[in-house]
Amino acid sequence: MSQSLDTLVVHAGESDQRIDGAVRLPIFQTAMFAHDDRPLRYIRYNNTPNQEIINAKVAAIEGAEAALVTGSGMTAISGALLSVLKPGDHLLAQDRLYGGTHSFATSLLADFDIAYSFVDADQPDSWEDSLRPNTRAFYVESLTNPLLEVCDLEAVVAFARANSLVSLIDNTFASPCNFKAAAFGFDLSLHSATKYLNGHSDIVAGAMAGRADLVAGVKRTLTHLGGALDPNACFLLNRGLQSLALRMRAHNENALALAQFLEGHPAVSKVNYPGLLSHPRHARAARLFDGFGGMISIELRGGLPAAERLIARLQLPLFAPSLGGIESLVTRPAMSSHASLTPEERAQAGIKDDLVRISVGIEASGDLIDDFRQALA
Ligand code: PLP
Repeated sequence: MSQSLDTLVVHAGESDQRIDGAVRLPIFQTAMFAHDDRPLRYIRYNNTPNQEIINAKVAAIEGAEAALVTGSGMTAISGALLSVLKPGDHLLAQDRLYGGTHSFATSLLADFDIAYSFVDADQPDSWEDSLRPNTRAFYVESLTNPLLEVCDLEAVVAFARANSLVSLIDNTFASPCNFKAAAFGFDLSLHSATKYLNGHSDIVAGAMAGRADLVAGVKRTLTHLGGALDPNACFLLNRGLQSLALRMRAHNENALALAQFLEGHPAVSKVNYPGLLSHPRHARAARLFDGFGGMISIELRGGLPAAERLIARLQLPLFAPSLGGIESLVTRPAMSSHASLTPEERAQAGIKDDLVRISVGIEASGDLIDDFRQALA
């Protein structure tokens, strides 16, 4: 019997052990377990009870063969790339990546003798030119940070299959509620679980879901590199995951309402949100996604001074980096997520200094709109 996501987040992977009658599986705050007839269990091996609940739950909600929880989103991303790619290999990657992934590619891959080419992931006709005999993987994001672009995800999967490439997607911004990347055909779907999967801004964690052979390969790589999530953080992540479906509905609804309000405001010159009819890839987003997510970015007619004034005057959203929590946040990507890029790289990626990114929380949308109205006045 297939179950809906609302049910899966609550029940999938949960243990039926009722230790002393406990409804919740306790935190197994132990590094190792006594020998028995099972393989050796140890936190770094990613096979302890609090980790295994999440591995099973994330696989179920992504509709994937297997999943793995990791110590951070960057552990999932770097572990996946270093497992899929070997010395001498070449990576095709979307040119608009999260800053940390971008700088991992540009500053670290060469140390492993791995080459890369950035491509416009919305121009499938251009990809062939960057393909090399040693190209092994294609890496994209479901919604780009911070411009909320939706690249040609269907073409990425088809191109990867046609050229025997492993397709990887950072699905952090969409979450499995809005886009089931693994079920859609991506070989590996990666998450900063720090964001929506946990949803409460209180841990750093990562996760991936996809083909069982690839997930097993990453697990092997990370057994050497470390980067496992500790049991206490796993407990918190599982608790967050159980309200993911509810929270994402609120993020989707609030962000759409706020984006529509901002689009109609005279002080705002540009709103990037895939749920708006004005978004250049709205039709694609509506076809592929079950919701448009909680992230918006805007430009103001008054440029950087106006952006700074807006941020200072907002009362509900905190001025802070990161995203995907229950509380609304605002930041300027040029000084946070994309600070590691050079000004030239940022300009090339279309990230202006005055761009304001909003992580829309689950507060009442009317209160958020009122707050933006007074701050923009
Ligand atoms: N992917 C995206 C889209 C992100 O926004 C981030 C962090 O901001 C990461 C990956 C990295 O995740 P973490 O900070 O959990 O390592």
